[in-house]
Amino acid sequence: MVEVASPASDVPTHEVPQPGVPVLEVTGLCKHFPVRKGLLRRTVGHVYAVDGVSFTIGPAETLGLVGESGCGKTTVGRTVMRLIEPTAGTIKLDGHDVTSLGKKEFRPYRRQLQIIFQDPFSSLNPRKRAGDIVGEPLKVHGIGTRSERRERVAALFERVGLRRAQMDNFPHQFSGGQRQRIGVARALALNPKLIIGDEPVSALDVSIQAQVINLLMDLQRDMKLSGTAVILITHDLGVVAEMCDDVAVMYAGEVVERGSVDAIFRSPQHPYTEALLAAVPVPDPAIKRTKLVVQGDVPSPLNPPPGCRFHTRCPYMVPRCKEEVPALREIEPGHHVACHLR
Ligand code: SF4
Repeated sequence: MVEVASPASDVPTHEVPQPGVPVLEVTGLCKHFPVRKGLLRRTVGHVYAVDGVSFTIGPAETLGLVGESGCGKTTVGRTVMRLIEPTAGTIKLDGHDVTSLGKKEFRPYRRQLQIIFQDPFSSLNPRKRAGDIVGEPLKVHGIGTRSERRERVAALFERVGLRRAQMDNFPHQFSGGQRQRIGVARALALNPKLIIGDEPVSALDVSIQAQVINLLMDLQRDMKLSGTAVILITHDLGVVAEMCDDVAVMYAGEVVERGSVDAIFRSPQHPYTEALLAAVPVPDPAIKRTKLVVQGDVPSPLNPPPGCRFHTRCPYMVPRCKEEVPALREIEPGHHVACHLR
């Protein structure tokens, strides 16, 4: 179990989830960064990093958020964590609207949300010992005595494949993979309801990536038992196929397709999803996949194209696509697509 046995008796455990209430419900989430220029720093435009993203995730579910670099997936993760403030939309945690709560009011919810950052080098304070980094969330939230926290941190170290003797080492004394294990242990410390993994292996050497993925999959089994939900932000569709229940495909700040991993991998309906999947090897020879290749680059988020944002690259584009924004429609239970032709 992720809920590592610990004498820190007041480490929060999950309440029984209310039936039908998602752990996280995001509706119409937008994040527009102002672009300022000149001496007076006047706003001359906006970067439309995230534009109207909606999804829900229930207890013990794993949602993959996928798309090319710059599609807005990391911004979604950070906005959900309230590390950056949303421009519009709502974020509900366990049915409570936390979108505009002040720092103090948000604090009880903050401990239910944890993130594993992409870069294990810059995300750990080089001046702190590894044990203090992992125990910091417990200290900040006033959980346990010093010795209780140390015991819990030791248990977390062992859970992620590190030795308790390494608790007194500094980050530079660890390899990249070990540093990411420290990041994972820190995310688990408070038994959160939701963990966001922001490209957790992409900064690691390829030889190390598999080890960390195996650790995450091992922990995921425990998280499912304890009801922890996971959002996995990645561009690696192979990892999504292995780890996720549902997937949301993002393009230029919008979700263009959403559904179960099974439905989307077997029968992608949006041309962009089709193109992404065309690059992934298929282990099942019974599945025939068309090799759709899209030309050109992702449009600038400063000036996204009108209508369907994918129309500048879509091989199936019709005149309507240039003018009318396609709505994200449910084409079969649980499977949503934003395309005029579906
Ligand atoms: Fe292509 Fe038009 Fe569908 Fe957009 S709406 S994906 S441009 S066919």
